[in-house]
Amino acid sequence: MLNALTIDVEEYFQAHAFENAIDRGAWDRLPARVVENTRRILRLLAEHGTRATFFVLGWVAERHPALVAEIAAGGHELGSHGYAHQLLYRQTPAEFAADLERSLAAIRRAAGTDGAVVGYRAPGFSLTDDSLWALDVLSAHGIRYDSSLQPVADGRGARLRGGKRTGIAGAGRFATRLGTLWEFPVSTVRLGGRNWPVAGGGWFRLLPLWLTRRAIARINGEGHPAIVYLHPWELDPEEPPVAAASALSRFRHRLNLDKTESRLRSLLRESAFAPLREVYAPQLAAS
Ligand SMILES: [Zn+2]
Repeated sequence: MLNALTIDVEEYFQAHAFENAIDRGAWDRLPARVVENTRRILRLLAEHGTRATFFVLGWVAERHPALVAEIAAGGHELGSHGYAHQLLYRQTPAEFAADLERSLAAIRRAAGTDGAVVGYRAPGFSLTDDSLWALDVLSAHGIRYDSSLQPVADGRGARLRGGKRTGIAGAGRFATRLGTLWEFPVSTVRLGGRNWPVAGGGWFRLLPLWLTRRAIARINGEGHPAIVYLHPWELDPEEPPVAAASALSRFRHRLNLDKTESRLRSLLRESAFAPLREVYAPQLAAS
């Protein structure tokens, strides 16, 4: 079974864990680490002859166009992670359209491609019942699939820390049509009547590798590809400490940063991964 590997290309200081500790106005003054960290992933993928989907933040693409070109040259898929890393439901449709346009322009300019970006992932998996309007905006801009749903909500969007929400009431765990788009939710496993987002990010770093492995096998056993997600900063144990963040945010953000690379290497050795666009090529071709 071919699984999907997805990388959200952003700086460590853009993570939501730090949004109250690091002002957006300070982003340009902080040391850039995304280029080296993304290259770490590109090298790892090249070693294993694997390609992935890179959802690039427009802010990053504008500042590091050569990195975007390197990703494209490696045969990977380029998708959009928006421009300014704003949660969907904190934007108006017009603000979101402007953010999306700016990100697509930056990515296409950097990659030297025209119109090849067909996938989108929202910051913070912020596709909820309150932000479904975003799908129409995506569709109007040539996006054909979205991977912003973390299907962990049984009610009106699961509440996360800091008043954040994620998930859509009653949403399924697997690929489905949402409006005129395909939705490819990040992987969860069903356990004890709940969906657990086991295959990426903080969960990937928290859980032992054997559990992630078992989760992927279980999802494959249900007849579906796993959709794994990571960020370049998750492979960077030398990330500068963010003193102003709460102890809990720092703990969650920095947990096992020194283990991600070797875990990813093991997964790449054991399982087959590809970009979302290729894993779901039949679905995308049929729509
Ligand atoms: Zn992000």
